[in-house]
Amino acid sequence: MCSASEPSHEQKISAEALRLTTPLKEIEGLGVGARRATQLKRLGLVTVYDLLRHLPMRYEHEFSEGAINDLPMDAIGSARGTIVNTRVAHAVGHKGRARFEATLQDHSTTLRLVWFNATYLHKQLHPGMVVRVTGKTTVHGTYPQMVNPKWEDLTKQAQAPATSDRLRPVYPASQEISSAFIEQMAARIVPAILNLVHDPLTDTFRKARELPTLAEAYRMLHRPEHADEVGSGRRRLAYNECLLLQLGITLKRHYNDTQLVAPGLRWSDAVDRHIRARFPFTLTPAQDTAVKEIAGDLRKSRPMNRLLQGDVGAGKTVVALYALLMAVADRKQGAIMAPTELLAEQHFASISSMLEGSNVKIALLTGGASASRSAERQALLEQIASSSVEIIVGTQALLTESVRFADLGVVVVDEQHRFGVLQRAAFRSRMGRGTEQDGRKPSPHYLVMTATPIPRTLSLTLFGDLDVSTIKGLPPGRTPITTRVVPPEGCDKVYGYLAQRVEKGEQLYVVVPAIDPSSPAPDSDSAKQLKSVNEHAKLLGERYFKGVRIATVHGRLKPETRAHVMDRFRRGEVKVLVATTVIEVGVDVPNATLMVVEHAERFGLSQLHQLRGRIGRGDHGRKSLCVFIASPTTDDAQRRMKAIAATTDGFAIAEEDLAIRGMGDFFGTRQSGMPPLRVARIPDDIDLFTMARRDAGEMVEADPQLQRPEHVALRKVLMQQYGDVLGLIDVG
Ligand code: ADP
Ligand code: MG
Repeated sequence: MCSASEPSHEQKISAEALRLTTPLKEIEGLGVGARRATQLKRLGLVTVYDLLRHLPMRYEHEFSEGAINDLPMDAIGSARGTIVNTRVAHAVGHKGRARFEATLQDHSTTLRLVWFNATYLHKQLHPGMVVRVTGKTTVHGTYPQMVNPKWEDLTKQAQAPATSDRLRPVYPASQEISSAFIEQMAARIVPAILNLVHDPLTDTFRKARELPTLAEAYRMLHRPEHADEVGSGRRRLAYNECLLLQLGITLKRHYNDTQLVAPGLRWSDAVDRHIRARFPFTLTPAQDTAVKEIAGDLRKSRPMNRLLQGDVGAGKTVVALYALLMAVADRKQGAIMAPTELLAEQHFASISSMLEGSNVKIALLTGGASASRSAERQALLEQIASSSVEIIVGTQALLTESVRFADLGVVVVDEQHRFGVLQRAAFRSRMGRGTEQDGRKPSPHYLVMTATPIPRTLSLTLFGDLDVSTIKGLPPGRTPITTRVVPPEGCDKVYGYLAQRVEKGEQLYVVVPAIDPSSPAPDSDSAKQLKSVNEHAKLLGERYFKGVRIATVHGRLKPETRAHVMDRFRRGEVKVLVATTVIEVGVDVPNATLMVVEHAERFGLSQLHQLRGRIGRGDHGRKSLCVFIASPTTDDAQRRMKAIAATTDGFAIAEEDLAIRGMGDFFGTRQSGMPPLRVARIPDDIDLFTMARRDAGEMVEADPQLQRPEHVALRKVLMQQYGDVLGLIDVG
C-alpha cells in the first residue's frame, strides 16, 4: 500500500498514470532531475506533450549489432566493443595518407578501425571507451577491418544493443542534452501516451484522404518502422496545420461576409473623373486595374478586405488616395495609417499637394504631439469626431483611446514591408456613424498596402482571407538600376569610379552593417573587419571623397538630428550619406542614384531589395548603379547574391527569398502575427494547403459555426492553438 505520508515532491509518476501535461521531471525512472529539467527546458521540453511534439529532424539507418566475429563481410554492419589501443599514422611519402587507427575488442575477437585524414580523432577516441561502430567490414591481411566507420560513444550512456535494422531518430538537441537522451525518453513515453492523443478528424474524413490517425502519425515519426512511415506521419501533421490555418482564414472570411456590414459607397463616372482630375499624372494600366478592383469592392456593403501589393515605388499611394476620396465623395471619412511618423508625414505631404485647391479637409495625427500642443490636438480630435476633417493621416496614434471618427468609411493601412495583424476591430469600435443592418455589425472598408510582394504560393494559402490587387512594374519615367556584386578586393575601384560620378553631381548612399566598430558580430570571425558608420565615413573622406561633404545616419541618432541630416542630403548639401539600414524604408531622394552596400552577404534578400529601392527614383534619365560588396561564404549567401544581381523584380525576389529562408524567417517569425507552422512547409506542401483550403471551405459552408459533433473537436483545437494569432476572437 502506498503511504500517504510521503512528501509529494518526491513522488514520481509511473507510466500508466501519465497525462499530456505531466512534467517530465516528475516521471519515475526517466532520469530527469532538477539539472536535466533546466537543460530540457532550454530545448522547450517541459511536459510530456512537449516531448511528443519534439520531432526528429532526420533519421539514421541503424543496423542490428552483432559480435565482431559475426559481422557480414563486404556489407554494412554494426558492432560494439571496447577500444583497446589507438595510433596516429602520419603521411609517409607523397602518396601516403595520414590516418588514425584503433582496435576494437569484444568477447569474440578484435576489429581494426581505420580513419583516413582524421588524425584529430586522437583527441576523441581513447583506449577504454565503449563504442558502437557501423560500417562495411573488409579483410585486411588476415584481420577484419572497417574503414571510416561511423562511431558512437556508449561509455557514459549505455544503450541496449540494436537488435534489428531500423531508422534511428535524430532529434534537435543541445550541448547538454544529446539526441540519444531524448530518444530514450521518447522511446519510453511516446508509446505510453498515444492513447491520450485525440484525433480531431473523424475516421471517414481521415481515411478518404489516406491519412493515419494523429496518434499513429506521432508514433511513425518517433519510431518509424520503415522510411515510408516517416513520410505518412509527416504528411498527417502537416495537413493538420494546413487545415487549422485554412479553417481560421475561412471562418474569418465568412464572418466578414456574413456578420459585418460596410457602407456601400456611391460611385459614378463623374465621381471617377473628379477623383482622377486630382492626380498629377495618368494612372498606369496596373494602377487602373487596382483602382477598378477597389472601387468595385467599395460599392458593396460587404466590407472590403483587400491587400494592395506593389514594389517600392510602384505607385500605391495614389491608388490608396482614390479609395479615400471615394469615401469623401460619399460624405464619409477616410483614414490612412502608416508605421512610422516619417512615413505618415510623407503621406500627408504628398496627399496634401495632390489635394491642393480642393475642398477636401485633411489632417495629420501622430503620437508626437507634446503637452504644449495638446489644445491643438484636442481641437483636431474634435474635428475628427465632428466630420470637419475628411481625410486623416496618422500613425498608430489613430487607434488611441481618444480618437473617435464621425463616420469612417475607408481605412488604409500602409504596412510597408512589415506584416502585422490588422487591427480591424479597433477601427470598427471607433468608426462612428455606421449602423447595424439585419444584425450585422458596421465596419469600414479595409485596404492594406505592402511593399513586400507576397509570393503567389503564400497569397493563395496564408492570405486567403484577403483579396489581392497587384501593381506590377514601375510608373513611367523610372530608370532601371544596374546591379553589380563585387568582392571586397574590388572596393578600391568601385569607390574610385563612384567618386567621379559624385564629382559630376550625383549622390551616393553607402550602407554598412554596424554603427560602432566595436559592435559585436554574431559570427565574430569577421567582427574586427566589419565596417561601421563613423569609421567608414572617415575612411571614405580621406581616401576617395576628398573635399566632398559626407554625413552619417543611424538608428541611435535623435529623430530630429536624423531628420536634419536627411534634409541636407535631400537638398543636395550632403553628397555622400553613410548609413545603417535605417534608410531602408520610406526615404525618397530622387537625385540619389548611387548605392554601395558593404558586407552585403550579411543582409537578407528582401532587405537588399528594399535598400536598392532607395535609388532609381528620379525621372532625370540618369542611370542608377547599385554595388553590393560581398564575400559570400555560405551557399545561402551565394544564392542571395546571385538572385539580387539577376533581377530587380520584387516578386521574383520574394519567391526566392521564401525558398531560401523558409516561411518562418520570411515573415520575421514573432512580429509577423503568422501562426507558427512546425511541420508544414511552403512551397513544398502546397498540395496539402490546397487540399486543406478546399476541405475548410466545405466544412465552413456546411457548418459555419463548426457546431456539428464531427467538427466540435476541430473547433476546440483551432481556438486553442490559433485563436490569438489569427484574431478569431471576433468570430466567436
Ligand atoms: P509606393 O508604391 O512605393 O508607395 P509611391 O506611391 O510613393 O510608391 O509612388 C512612387 C513615385 O511614383 C511617386 O513619386 C509618385 O508620384 C510617382 N507615380 C505614381 N504613379 C505614377 C504614374 N502613374 N505616373 C507617373 N508617376 C507616378
Ligand atoms: Mg509608399
